[in-house]
Amino acid sequence: MQVKCNVLDRQFQMYQSEYEEAALRVLRSGWYVLGNEVQQFEEAFAKYTGRQYCVGLNSGLDALILSVRALGIGKGDEVIVQANTYIATVLGITENGATPVFVEPDEYYNMDADRIEQAITDRTRAIMVTHLYGQASNMTPIVGIARRHHLEIIEDCAQSHGACFGGKMTGTFGTAGCFSFYPTKNLGAFGDAGAIVTDDEAFADKLRMMRNYGSRKKYHNEIEGVNSRLDEMQAALLGVKLAHLRELNDERRVLAGRYSQGIRNPKIILPELRDGAESIYHQYVVRCADRDALQKALDQEGIQTQIHYPIPPHLAVCYRHLGHKKGDYPITESYAETVLSLPIYTGMTFAEQDHVISQINAWGKEESR
Ligand SMILES: *Cc1c(COP(=O)(O)O)cnc(C)c1O
Repeated sequence: MQVKCNVLDRQFQMYQSEYEEAALRVLRSGWYVLGNEVQQFEEAFAKYTGRQYCVGLNSGLDALILSVRALGIGKGDEVIVQANTYIATVLGITENGATPVFVEPDEYYNMDADRIEQAITDRTRAIMVTHLYGQASNMTPIVGIARRHHLEIIEDCAQSHGACFGGKMTGTFGTAGCFSFYPTKNLGAFGDAGAIVTDDEAFADKLRMMRNYGSRKKYHNEIEGVNSRLDEMQAALLGVKLAHLRELNDERRVLAGRYSQGIRNPKIILPELRDGAESIYHQYVVRCADRDALQKALDQEGIQTQIHYPIPPHLAVCYRHLGHKKGDYPITESYAETVLSLPIYTGMTFAEQDHVISQINAWGKEESR
């Protein structure tokens, strides 16, 4: 049996007629960028997250870059970020000329709140929190630290659409909640898309200008903006999916629960949930000392897995100039060497999952026999 790490057409088929209706509506409308569909999606997504404003953008990376920029953070400023995040989180900082200051993760793969204060200097402006793999970060202490030190909180919610901490939605703890709607995300579009949610009207206004060449009114350019407009097609399709997001996240929780129940192999460390945190299981990530051998064995049984992420940003070639070396963030580096993301996606069948579970449980048994 072949089990892919992701099969994107299943989630299309699930609500096919609704998607087709929305797509046709856009095609026939004669209006394709920043229009009614975008506005409706922005309203719906703001409401879903419980925030006042949502600004639709081109991508999750743009959401991060523009959040940092609109807060006036740039050269000479430092932003605290977890060391084991995706490169995009860090690019959001460095694209603005600011300096990322890495903090090691906790046992839930999110920023270790106990290590933040030692990373704060008089140049620190913000804490950029990624709710990695779908699990909400430990926001109570993080919000406390940000208040005490007068720092902004920017949340990277690219993997956490709908995940809560203490009953409060991720993306609502700081000034900016940054979302990606890349097709593989829990709320994925059929192309690139992203958004920022906020309660700050002036911030939202500025972002609206920034995404459209710095203009409120056509050809009246007030600030140096970019083109990060959301198109009508993606907005309309996202609106369809958003209406089903709760059930889509529930489906992943069921799949995650079946993995946690079913996997019984002393060599595999299963993911755990922090008290008060929810996960929408964007990824189901296990750890294994012999990860590469496990990945190879699963591959031979037709099971595709992924590593999120094999090279931590501080060791990425593009950040050599930051001067970090191997050994600087040992927890992050050990995660990079041991994490493995198992297949989990909308429309995954129990039969497919049972194949993964039985192969994982069988793995490593031969040697000990
Ligand atoms: C996907 C992702 C991004 C970037 O989103 P794009 O839409 O691909 O630009 C940023 N941060 C994290 C944690 C992500 O997973």
